[in-house]
Amino acid sequence: MDYAFAPAPAITVPIVERVGGAATASQHFPVRRIYLVGRNYAAHAREMGHDPDREPPFFFAKPADTILYAAPGVTAEFPYPTLTSNVHFEMELVAALGKGGKDIPVERALEHVYGYALGLDMTRRDLQAEAKKLGRPWDAAKGFDQSAPLGPIYPASEVGHIDRGAIWLKVNGVDKQRGDISQLIWSIPETIAILSTLFELQPGDLIFTGTPEGVGAVTKGDVMTGGVDGLGDISVRVV
Ligand code: MN
Repeated sequence: MDYAFAPAPAITVPIVERVGGAATASQHFPVRRIYLVGRNYAAHAREMGHDPDREPPFFFAKPADTILYAAPGVTAEFPYPTLTSNVHFEMELVAALGKGGKDIPVERALEHVYGYALGLDMTRRDLQAEAKKLGRPWDAAKGFDQSAPLGPIYPASEVGHIDRGAIWLKVNGVDKQRGDISQLIWSIPETIAILSTLFELQPGDLIFTGTPEGVGAVTKGDVMTGGVDGLGDISVRVV
């Protein structure tokens, strides 16, 4: 193939077999798309001014190259983005698909999950609020460069499937977000089933499953540390 210029590199995330283990250089997860679920914990829906009654789930996306890899045991650096003065953290459990499909039945959805990761859905909340008010898209609020800090992929074959357990985030050691995966309004199998009616899912797709209550702003110098039971934690400094 004769390219007009060098194609962008593939977006990959290391696969780590167990929490606290080392990444094996040969095993990387190639990322295709990043889908995100909006308002998937009732208390967060309420704090954003919405009725958390079981409205149908809604989805948005970030480009795959917004991933900022946060290696276990290392504090990654998240550059404070331009044109905002209100950048929020949203700690999320991420499902990583190893098998694609459309119209996936909910009872078979977990067969499509390769593994799980810890992710931060960083958000320019001021731009999002303006977009909501004006009925405009969320891309600049959600899909900016390095807006998706992400830990390694842990295979479900090693860590199991995750449907309960604490999800939490601290800023500078102070508790900010705390919830439980069992509080997801739309479970991971339900989310995959519904998402697969909108898009044909493919291996390499990531699904950020939503954030619990307690979202808030960070400023330069803050260190965010977040985790999910069974997946350890990730740490990201705002620079
Ligand atoms: Mn989110």
